[in-house]
Amino acid sequence: MPKHILSGLKYLAVIELRKLAFSTYDVAEILKMDRSTVSHYIHNRNISSNSIEVAKVILDLCPQDSLKMIYSLCQDKHLTFTILKHCLNNPKITIKNTCIGCGVCVDSCIMDALEIINLNSKVNLDCCCGCLLCSENCPTNSIEILEVE
Ligand code: SF4
Ligand code: SF4
Repeated sequence: MPKHILSGLKYLAVIELRKLAFSTYDVAEILKMDRSTVSHYIHNRNISSNSIEVAKVILDLCPQDSLKMIYSLCQDKHLTFTILKHCLNNPKITIKNTCIGCGVCVDSCIMDALEIINLNSKVNLDCCCGCLLCSENCPTNSIEILEVE
């Protein structure tokens, strides 16, 4: 069953990537899939409606639960991030100047989106999915995350 759920998530990501005009080849590369499967998904073949419905339920969870669920299904950070990035709204994350550079947020981030530079936390937005794990663990409440439509 987990494999079918992951297929549903990949299907939804394929559809979103195609809306952005990525080629079948590029979609296959990005999602680490073979091209024939991508082609099937583009034409709504070889995917069950149940898998798609379950995948939609996972993506409707809060970003943190979606992240944990998808990562537990695939054990692949890049794939987890790619699915979340293309199926959810992009987050906007700000680190306030109250940051003390303790590094707790860096250890909290499953996506490796944070690092400490000159005793301040810096985020790589290309890797952030807005899961809020970092802000919930920050001892100085220095991390603000907004969802961007
Ligand atoms: S957990 Fe908070 S205070 Fe610590 S480095 Fe991260 S943003 Fe700064
Ligand atoms: S919200 Fe924070 S913990 Fe989550 S991916 Fe972004 S930087 Fe990492």
